[in-house]
Amino acid sequence: MTLTKEKIINFIFVIMVLVFLNFTSGKNYLLFHAIAEIFSICIAFTIYLLTWNSKQFLRNNFLIIMGVAYLFIGFLDLLHTLSYKGMNIFRDYDYYANQLWIATRFLESITIFVSFLLLNFKKQINTYLIFFVYLVTTVIIISSIFYLKVFPICYIDGVGLTQFKIVSEYIISLILLASLGIAYYYRKHFDKLIYKLIFTSIVFTILSELSFTLYTSNYDFLNMMGHYFKIISFYFIYKAIIVKGIKEPNYSIFKELQSQVNTDGLTGLYNYKYLYEKLDEEIRHSLRKKLPFSIIIFDVDHFKIINDLYGHVKGDEALQGIACYIKELTRVTDTVGRYGGEEFMVILPNTVLKDCYAISEKIRCKIREVDHINNGARITISAGIAEFDGNYIDDVSLTVSNLASRLVDVADNNLYNAKASGRDKTMGYL
Ligand code: GH3
Ligand code: MG
Ligand code: MG
Repeated sequence: MTLTKEKIINFIFVIMVLVFLNFTSGKNYLLFHAIAEIFSICIAFTIYLLTWNSKQFLRNNFLIIMGVAYLFIGFLDLLHTLSYKGMNIFRDYDYYANQLWIATRFLESITIFVSFLLLNFKKQINTYLIFFVYLVTTVIIISSIFYLKVFPICYIDGVGLTQFKIVSEYIISLILLASLGIAYYYRKHFDKLIYKLIFTSIVFTILSELSFTLYTSNYDFLNMMGHYFKIISFYFIYKAIIVKGIKEPNYSIFKELQSQVNTDGLTGLYNYKYLYEKLDEEIRHSLRKKLPFSIIIFDVDHFKIINDLYGHVKGDEALQGIACYIKELTRVTDTVGRYGGEEFMVILPNTVLKDCYAISEKIRCKIREVDHINNGARITISAGIAEFDGNYIDDVSLTVSNLASRLVDVADNNLYNAKASGRDKTMGYL
């Protein structure tokens, strides 16, 4: 309910902004331009403030570089807005606005390109060094345009775009296109939604650049479209970085950050905490859809003896191997986690007890066949299974967590029975 209300309000807001912008563009192009630019400048500064103030938590070069860069991009865009012909602030020279535009778009596209390239660069780059690099670059841009006047002229009133400007816009579009390629290559690194938002933002940036390649006057239709596209592209970046970052503080743009919190160091499987979150989620889903799901708890048999005989290191290797087999023999939609020292849990959505039993047996049989520590020693596992059928069983007052722990208790009990009745078996079905 709240979500749809919010969507309607968002929609009305966007329409109002567009109508207002359209109205101003008809009346006064200078006003339209100023408002359009101020919109993206505000977003740029907000991106900077958000990332700079959370820099101690950011372990990813991508966000830090983008955050710092947008401070300078916002500043240069502000200068561009102020120097637009007709603003009458800089009266000595006609060309500042378009030169600043091109310089800033180069800075922005190269920033996007480099941040994507560095996605896989494990070492963290010093934030102050990044800041310093952007500061120096910005000083060079400003002095080459305002003082040295060596920056090529981009647009001449009455004549149109210069060759330099046109070629530059194409190069900028190519850099952005290459960034899209890298983004696609690294798409698995990103949260799906964030990936879509960033991808869309870059596509609109390219559209914006292309409009700016084709316009003939600083005040014509394509110039206006270019500014609309720029607003849209900044809006998507805003959605990706700000809305997600502020509204959902635990939400991480990058999967790797999320997974560090949710996974177990030894096996790479999900950890205990995540398993319980997932269980709650699965119970809720099951109650809503009236669909059953099942869980398996595995415990390695006589693992103390394995450790004593072959040492802890070999024991660890065996656990990693077992984890791999469980993962391999389950579906991608199943959740596999390390539940305890040598205990594993599998959550199987939309699965009835009978099928759960079959999967558990398949895994158990595989494990007992394998030579886990390359010395002929055999390792077996026992399993307890349980199903949740999508009903409150007997008491509607039970909370989701109550239901989750009751389900785990059933599986645990069955595991205990498997151990007590000789190990190397699955209990809970027959
Ligand atoms: P059973 O389950 O068949 O009753 O016997 P068990 O020997 O496996 O007994 P229990 O489950 O109580 O003991 C688990 C042992 O697993 C104790 C501990 O030394 C070992 N263990 C737990 N975590 C790790 C680990 O991360 N690495 C290694 N190498 N051993 C572990
Ligand atoms: Mg145990
Ligand atoms: Mg055990």
